[in-house]
Amino acid sequence: MLLNRRDFLKATGAGFAYLSLSQMGFDMRPVKAYAAGLKMDGAKEVISVCPFCSVSCHIIAHVKDGKLVNTEGDPDYPINQGALCAKGAAMLSLTRNPHRAMKPMYRAPYSDKWEEKSWDWMLDRIADRVKESRDKDFIEKNEKGQRVNRLEHVFALGTSHMDNEECSLVHQAMRALGVVHMDHQARI
Ligand code: SF4
Repeated sequence: MLLNRRDFLKATGAGFAYLSLSQMGFDMRPVKAYAAGLKMDGAKEVISVCPFCSVSCHIIAHVKDGKLVNTEGDPDYPINQGALCAKGAAMLSLTRNPHRAMKPMYRAPYSDKWEEKSWDWMLDRIADRVKESRDKDFIEKNEKGQRVNRLEHVFALGTSHMDNEECSLVHQAMRALGVVHMDHQARI
């Protein structure tokens, strides 16, 4: 019989632990009852890829009743061998973090309150502010008369939850505007 790495670990690790502990007189019934109640019990395993950097670690996603209930590193994938960095390990929070803002929130200048806004309002506001800054501060030529097309008064900072493709799109959009100052949490 051919066993992959995960099956081997399950068969040997779990088997040895069960044999040795029960042989030493421990009652394993509470442990088995606990395992039966785990959130992954009965869940479907789906292999996915962490989207946060080009290492592309493999992740096992557990899906139950159409919902993601757990994510963990894939021990069978040779690149990450079951390990994940802090960002990959927090993957579940992408979909299930109760603190995640689900609607655009706006805080007016000098205000101490956040207000809920519609996407239309927020996107118009962002577009107006970006255009205003660009119209005011765009630099076409440097002091030597060379064309530079730079916008130096806007800084773009990506969040830790932007994936590779989102970072690529934002980067291209910012370069098209002439923005030269940008950074992203993955590099910090
Ligand atoms: S962000 Fe971390 S877990 Fe995700 S692919 Fe990169 S190294 Fe792997």
